[in-house]
Amino acid sequence: MIRSSNLSYQYPNGPALSFPDVDVAQGAVVLLRGPSGCGKSTWLALVAGLMPPSSGDLTVAEQPLSALKTLTADAWRAQAIGFLPQKLHLSAALSVQQNLAMAQWAAGQAEDLARIREALSALGVAELAQRKPAQLSGGQAQRVALARAVLLKPRVILADEPTASLDDDAANEAVALLLGTARRQGATLAIATHDARVAAALALTGEKICQIGLQATKDVLKQL
Ligand code: ADP
Ligand code: MG
Repeated sequence: MIRSSNLSYQYPNGPALSFPDVDVAQGAVVLLRGPSGCGKSTWLALVAGLMPPSSGDLTVAEQPLSALKTLTADAWRAQAIGFLPQKLHLSAALSVQQNLAMAQWAAGQAEDLARIREALSALGVAELAQRKPAQLSGGQAQRVALARAVLLKPRVILADEPTASLDDDAANEAVALLLGTARRQGATLAIATHDARVAAALALTGEKICQIGLQATKDVLKQL
């Protein structure tokens, strides 16, 4: 679940962003839409507890984020949040399997190869476990990054522009994979995108979704 009220964020040398209130039930899907620069990635970072909001309240997976201390925030995030960033950030020197093991170490857990295999299998990439990221296609790398994001069975999955640079078929597949993974794990799914194909792909699945539309910021409008 994700619940916010009066949420805003002011970048020190940047725009003041304010966000509509949301109340997303556990297991639901939320689509965060809006033009580039309107604050989608910022909203995801706030929900992930990566930075504190300038104002407002935010509760994610039953955790009021204002109550998180810096020290406990990392451990909470590792357990509760599965983040699929726009840039995948797979470590080039490590194999696929080692990249996933890193997520377990980061959460203070022992390496669990059976769980890693299970997560890779669920996304159809178990046979790629020993490859390096450079030996993967774009679509394969995204599956691996998603397997890593959901390895610890997070309550909330956050995906930032998951269809950027994908062709139409691959974009539909990426959305279906995210949705299937979230459903299987009972996770709340938030997708931030400026790509109209994502809404269309979600509509095809018949999934009931909550949409949040963000407006372009004044600075962005000035640049147009
Ligand atoms: P989106 O993901 O919707 O494209 P972002 O959340 O990345 O938008 O950015 C929202 C606004 O905040 C933009 O105007 C962007 O230029 C600005 N911004 C993002 N990061 C910073 C930063 N670190 N410092 C100052 N301004 C920033
Ligand atoms: Mg963004």
